[in-house]
Amino acid sequence: MKAGYYVGDYTYEVRDIPDREPEKDEVRIRVAWCGLCGTDIHKFQGKNGASIVVPPIILGHECSGIVESVGPEVDYFKPGDRVACDPSYGCGKCEWCQKGLPNFCKVRHGVAKGFAEYVYPPEKNVYHISDDLGLKEAAFAEPLSCVVHGLDLINIQSGKTVVMYGMGSIGSLMLQMIKYSGAGKIIVVERESEKRAIAKELGADLAVSDQEIEELSKYENFNYVVECIGLKQTMEQAIKVAGKNAKVLLFGLGDPEKPVEFNQFEAYTKELSIFTSYLNPFATERAVKILESGILDTDKIISAELNLEEIGSELKELNYSRKGKVMVYLSREN
Ligand SMILES: [Zn+2]
Ligand SMILES: [Zn+2]
Repeated sequence: MKAGYYVGDYTYEVRDIPDREPEKDEVRIRVAWCGLCGTDIHKFQGKNGASIVVPPIILGHECSGIVESVGPEVDYFKPGDRVACDPSYGCGKCEWCQKGLPNFCKVRHGVAKGFAEYVYPPEKNVYHISDDLGLKEAAFAEPLSCVVHGLDLINIQSGKTVVMYGMGSIGSLMLQMIKYSGAGKIIVVERESEKRAIAKELGADLAVSDQEIEELSKYENFNYVVECIGLKQTMEQAIKVAGKNAKVLLFGLGDPEKPVEFNQFEAYTKELSIFTSYLNPFATERAVKILESGILDTDKIISAELNLEEIGSELKELNYSRKGKVMVYLSREN
């Protein structure tokens, strides 16, 4: 079968590797779609994603597909089932797993590398999807589960004002989820006017530039600020514009070489709470339910549908990734 590898040194390669039958509790899934994630781009650029990267590695972790065969210990899946995957799991034994915080597991297992024709995750990482949910949309289960976990942390109260930075693919999901959580007013901060227009279509009350938000923050008390870009400059501004008693969620993946600086005294007088969000513990099942409910518009977020070979030049040029979500098609079933 074909698989898309990052082989190190800014190089991507499609390799032919053997397919195999599933063992024990493994579910062998014929991958239909897999999203290209910001962390795949980070890995290609030689930075770490959520964990340390040692090439060669198969990229992709946001996949959906159809069960082709199952291992002898599998109970709940059969060939033909339509599914989405959670791409990693905790060992279940270490102190962090025992505390109910598997995202900090000492030996986290990565499974379901979705830039491949087949993946073999254990049954506990596989989720049934309804017949009404398309497989392309189901591939959003993983990024959405990360958004769900981030929102779990800040617990948005109905009627409050939320500022959200960045209309990339994560921001576009985040915005819709913030809307769904009952926010009273949502202001999106986005540099590109084209994306500001999309923010309005997806539920923002106002979409402004970074200069405008600083001005607005002088008159309005923002209760929540959610940053979905990960740039030092925007993360610092997110903390700066937050109002009194506000919660700030730094969701974007920052650069470890460029730590954020902020005025602690100013933050103190506002009694700010600053949150970060790591991975997606216990959120995939809910992400699938949300996608099934049909409240999210994922079509509007997709900027391109590419095959495994075409991903090579996209990783270098990022032509479509700058505009939205790139979806990789494998079997392309829906
Ligand atoms: Zn991802
Ligand atoms: Zn563990």
